[in-house]
Amino acid sequence: MAKDKVTIKTEEEIELLRKSSLLVGKTLAEVAKIIEPGVNTAKLDKLAEEYILDHGAIPGFKGYGGFPATLCISINEEVVHGIPGNRIIQDGDVVSIDCGTLMNGFYGDSAYTFAVGNVSKKNLHLLEITKQSLYKGIEQAVSGKRVGDIGFAVQNHVEQFGYGVVRDLVGHGLGRNLHEKPEIPNFGRRGSGPKLIERMVIAIEPMITRGTYEVAQDSDGWTIRTTDGKAAAHFEHDIVIRKGKAEILSTFDYIEEVLKNK
Ligand code: MG
Ligand code: MG
Repeated sequence: MAKDKVTIKTEEEIELLRKSSLLVGKTLAEVAKIIEPGVNTAKLDKLAEEYILDHGAIPGFKGYGGFPATLCISINEEVVHGIPGNRIIQDGDVVSIDCGTLMNGFYGDSAYTFAVGNVSKKNLHLLEITKQSLYKGIEQAVSGKRVGDIGFAVQNHVEQFGYGVVRDLVGHGLGRNLHEKPEIPNFGRRGSGPKLIERMVIAIEPMITRGTYEVAQDSDGWTIRTTDGKAAAHFEHDIVIRKGKAEILSTFDYIEEVLKNK
């Protein structure tokens, strides 16, 4: 299937995408159980990989473009694509974890930013507003609107707080490929861009910073960080375009149930 064409999914395909997306939420909930100061990021990655393999799927990111791990774990000023390893999570870290699964031929892709231990009020606010902006974007993801309506809603929400919208990375269509058309920027003009059509499945994923939106890639070829060193947050849902109201295929419910009882 061509990656450069927007694909409209069948209801059967949407159910498979839902299964894969829900498994991502459940995997992130397993990670939520053990994330705490003193844990190294490789341990989180190993847990996620085993959980995905135990549930009839394979990690969606491992080997994708050569990425070496199951999770992208990006801490504080790291925005996305951080590689798990020996780094130990510290009290006060904000930890963005992005996870992908491939199940029955379809990808799930969702991300959540965790506040570990005593996180500063400033950074907690960033997390809250970033998550809100995701839902503002989802509100616009209905048939007849355009991609720019989503980006505008995200941008408009976060910029009132002086936050930055990362430009260099965007959301995307999702299906048999992890990244399909159209691109879903987190900034834009109302009424601009490709039209949203019923049964399109897209990942909306605001990457929001406390300062500049300028980012740079590390010499590891993956990790993206803010150039001013201020924290970033990242939340991502997979959704299907419907009339009137988008349907969210992924979920944070399992994660937040764990966090509530921690
Ligand atoms: Mg993702
Ligand atoms: Mg994505």
